[in-house]
Amino acid sequence: MIYIVTGVSRGLGKAIAECFLKDGHKVIGVGRSHSIDHENFRFQKCDFSDRRGVEQCMKNEDFTSPVTLINNAGILGEIGRISQKETFDLPHVLDVNVNAPFQLIANVYGNMRKKSDFTLVNISSGAANRAIPSWASYCASKSALNMLTEAFYFEEHELGNTIRAYALSPGVIDTDMQGQIRAASPNVFSSVEKFKSLREDGMLVSAEEAAIRLKILLEQPFDGTVFHDLRMLK
Ligand code: NAP
Repeated sequence: MIYIVTGVSRGLGKAIAECFLKDGHKVIGVGRSHSIDHENFRFQKCDFSDRRGVEQCMKNEDFTSPVTLINNAGILGEIGRISQKETFDLPHVLDVNVNAPFQLIANVYGNMRKKSDFTLVNISSGAANRAIPSWASYCASKSALNMLTEAFYFEEHELGNTIRAYALSPGVIDTDMQGQIRAASPNVFSSVEKFKSLREDGMLVSAEEAAIRLKILLEQPFDGTVFHDLRMLK
């Protein structure tokens, strides 16, 4: 099995890549940088805010064995209320969180010799289904990611291609993204104290634990359920 993982420089993506490397799989990391040194690891440099670069990413591959594409790279954007934000960051957030994952799906899936060998994992968020004030761009992007994942799955199902597709909510994970959330001013983010408490109360899951939960989910038979919450997995 080849795992293609985006955003492997740190956080959840790095933990996922290391988890599958540890199990003896081949991993292709995609993103702006990485620090993984392993004989079964290959890196494909790509900045997801560069649409032209993303269009070419993984375009010239030929996948003859099963591939799992894990679209993990993601950004929160500027934390702040729409009416008070300094920048209009929606296009940038959509480029990284939605456009890049879907261009990669098109490129990787297009290069699969056998369509049924393809598994898609899009790392989404609970914020896809629950609007969080001051995270509008992020919520909108993850909501779009969820719908695109399910639409892609239904489309391939219609065509008789027995692929697996998941949009996952990973839980609250102890990564730099949570650091960015806790660093927000209470003037622009009303829930900042709640996120600080989650950490103080030991409620954050480590990236390594979340990666293991993802592995467990992928080891289970796929029953056609696209949306999953990794917190529900034991
Ligand atoms: P993180 O620590 O901030 O890591 C984000 C990753 O995305 C990094 O590898 C980063 O690479 C990459 N990335 C950002 N901008 C990029 C760009 N323009 N081009 C290519 N790669 C880019 O975040 P994380 O917490 O691990 O988040 C991983 C995923 O989980 C995200 O999709 C996030 O939305 C989701 N998630 C996280 C939480 C949580 O509590 N942490 C909760 C729900 C969902 P660089 O080093 O190049 O910036």
